[in-house]
Amino acid sequence: MKPILIAGPCAAESEQQLMSTAQQLMQQGVALDFFRAGVWKPRSNPNSFSGVGEIALQWLSQLQEQYKVPVCVEVMSPDQVLLCEQYGIFGIWIGARTSVNPNLVQQIADAVKDKPFTVMVKNPMVPDLKLWAGNVQRFLNANVKQVMAIHRGFSDAAEQLYRNSPCWEIPIDLKVLFPDLPILCDPSHLCGQRQWIAKVAQQALVYGFDGLMVECHCAPEQAKSDADQQLTPKQWKELIEQLAFRENLPNPELYQQRALLEHVDLQLSELLSKRMKIVDQIAEIKHKNKLAVVQPHQWQQVKERYLKPGQDDKYQYFIEQFLELLHQSSIDRQKSE
Ligand code: PEP
Ligand code: MN
Repeated sequence: MKPILIAGPCAAESEQQLMSTAQQLMQQGVALDFFRAGVWKPRSNPNSFSGVGEIALQWLSQLQEQYKVPVCVEVMSPDQVLLCEQYGIFGIWIGARTSVNPNLVQQIADAVKDKPFTVMVKNPMVPDLKLWAGNVQRFLNANVKQVMAIHRGFSDAAEQLYRNSPCWEIPIDLKVLFPDLPILCDPSHLCGQRQWIAKVAQQALVYGFDGLMVECHCAPEQAKSDADQQLTPKQWKELIEQLAFRENLPNPELYQQRALLEHVDLQLSELLSKRMKIVDQIAEIKHKNKLAVVQPHQWQQVKERYLKPGQDDKYQYFIEQFLELLHQSSIDRQKSE
């Protein structure tokens, strides 16, 4: 299946910026399924640029006509849905901040009921599969023309490489719950910086995502919001050219499983390194209090946490070996303190 491609600026800033971005994007020769632009921007800081509002719908409706490309915008209330309908906008998306509020999402779903909108449901800020799935179901129940999901990563208090945490298992589980639902990745909001976009976009395609939503601006460095994560139309074309789309991947199922495994391995290695740090703290406490390094009773409790009855023998054997190794390495670390 052909990937679904959405590009456009974070926000509609002026008629000139919209038209110039659209014109340059069209020039690249990459067919777009939707042109995106935020009209009302949900910003954390009340003094930041929060969108130009309704006037942009007029520009976008003209853009749809002129470039023969459907437009999508973010809506945060039923009133905004009605305005989009009035201006003939084809697509709407539910942003990550709205997506945490099921009551509001239901009001929006009631407003789009039986209407010919394409609705894209971004994941909520929090990594809650049920909340995301419930929001998708609200729009399926509302019988809109088409529903899609967008993965844009999850807020995480811990300092990390990307602006948002990918938690790939969540969108993949969503796909398991809704096998026919197209899921796109929004690497712009996930990464927060353009340098990571290609890597994350490729990873999403390997995981079997159905397309991408990427922020593009005619002059990203002058953008009034999300300047660091927007691409120029030319960079968008280069991105699309360098990505291996699913139909070009040899053995896509194998790629998908390998990518999943890589993700789990990364999590394991992070957890193991966290565990080592805790072991070092424990060593210090034992040292201060002149306690023995090996406390057999305590280790027995750790083992019991893992060794649950009813697990298959091979797994049981593996865990025993693994725990032995873990224990020995903890003892070695503590002895070398
Ligand atoms: C956006 O797409 O412009 C946006 C605000 O996204 P999110 O809801 O993913 O933060
Ligand atoms: Mn943005």
